[in-house]
Amino acid sequence: RTWGWSLAGELRQAAARDPDRIAVIDDQGTELTYADLLERSLRLARALRAGLGVAAGDRIGVFGRNHPGLVETIVAATLLGADAVLINTGLSPAQLTTVAEEQRLRVLVHDDEFAERLLGLPADLHRVDERAREELIRTALPGQLDPPERDGRIIVLTSGTTGTPKGARRPTPTGFGPLVAIIDRIPLHVRDRVMIAAPVFHTWGYAALQVCLALRATIVLHRRFDPAATLDALVRHRCQALFAVPVMLQRLMEVPPPDPRPPLKIVAVSGSALPGGLPSAFMDRYGDVLYNLYGSTEASWASIAVPADLRHAPTTAGRPPHGTRLAILDDDGRPVPAGQVGRVFVGNEMLFEGYTSGADRERHDGLLDTGDLGRLDADGRLFVDGRADDMIVSGGENVFPAEVENLLAQLPQVREAAVVGVPDPEYGQRLAAFLALYPGETLDADAVREYVRHYLARFSVPRDVVFVKYLPRNATGKVLTGELRDYITG
Ligand code: ATP
Repeated sequence: RTWGWSLAGELRQAAARDPDRIAVIDDQGTELTYADLLERSLRLARALRAGLGVAAGDRIGVFGRNHPGLVETIVAATLLGADAVLINTGLSPAQLTTVAEEQRLRVLVHDDEFAERLLGLPADLHRVDERAREELIRTALPGQLDPPERDGRIIVLTSGTTGTPKGARRPTPTGFGPLVAIIDRIPLHVRDRVMIAAPVFHTWGYAALQVCLALRATIVLHRRFDPAATLDALVRHRCQALFAVPVMLQRLMEVPPPDPRPPLKIVAVSGSALPGGLPSAFMDRYGDVLYNLYGSTEASWASIAVPADLRHAPTTAGRPPHGTRLAILDDDGRPVPAGQVGRVFVGNEMLFEGYTSGADRERHDGLLDTGDLGRLDADGRLFVDGRADDMIVSGGENVFPAEVENLLAQLPQVREAAVVGVPDPEYGQRLAAFLALYPGETLDADAVREYVRHYLARFSVPRDVVFVKYLPRNATGKVLTGELRDYITG
């Protein structure tokens, strides 16, 4: 394998080596070859420069779902030496305005369906909708595109689970060592057919895109995730790999498996914790194909669990790849012994440079604080217990929401569960559980508390039990815990 250093570089190489190979297939049946994809991206870049005056150093906001136009826009930006700011499709109009101002966007290329959310944006921000993008590509004047005076960068926003998303600056060119080392643990090959279901605007989906272009893969992109349509596409396009987020696997398990099964070798997930019961159930149905990657926008990829790890310990995030350091440190920055919980620190060549605004993350001896708590087992496997900020301290005892959530999810009536800490005058914090049940099922709050009391300590028993239709999630499938807390505290 040869690894280039930028998305545009990868695409140029792929188009030179494999021009007629299908690069992208969308949910409308459109297929673009590698030559087409490069040509369209080059035309878009030329038109953005000639028509809108986009130059090296400008920032282009990219606000779209997974489809070929999103890829073309990101590539076009980097071809011009501009920064592509990848925007989470779940942002509210107010968050979008904040992001546009903080990131000093010059142009916003967006999907038509988001037009209404743009009303509050500054008037001098150029907007390019889908029709305008097609028009730019169609009418671009011929000519050369000189190499830009600076390299375009990708700015990925954090998920914003804890507030307005922060821009994380990721340098390009950069050592992609950690990503390469992680992907080396996955049996993905040149010219494989891959469905990227994880949103490309998020670190995980973006990494998948980069890897797929480098491998000249055929990439299947759907605008929205639908479990039945996904299974159908995996079979129809004979995909060997699926890149997804954990909640998507939960949804796939809720629909009947297709016959024959898709020829999957790899189902790789990242972005949030895998619910405890899911890995075995999923692998029993689709084979030992599951890979769990742990990382964050800031720390890039830190560890990977391969199918054998997940069979052995379903909640593990696996081991760091070659070249990555993982340390569990106490409050004084000293390593804690195996089995003991501490703060997860990561060191590799892909740590982010800093936020585009606001304070940096704590760093210690070249290691970055992930903000997560976790532990290593005797064999060096990582278990992520959750974000330190989400840990609940009730009556002086520490409770990890994930432990209670995994237990609740084992109740046959429960489709999904979330647990948060809410302020309590007596205990400092108390637990509130939110349960979404399968259609037609019922449960009684007292029975839920009784069940938890049977397995866990008293302080882990949720005092509030709220039944909801579904859990509020952001576009990357993370539960919006702030909304749940607000529900209790008003
Ligand atoms: P914000 O800081 O804006 O709320 P975020 O931190 O949620 O955004 P991401 O960078 O997408 O945005 O999330 C990274 C976090 O997601 C990790 O720190 C960890 O808590 C969680 N996470 C990611 N992958 C895994 C995994 N495989 N297992 C457990 N937790 C994971």
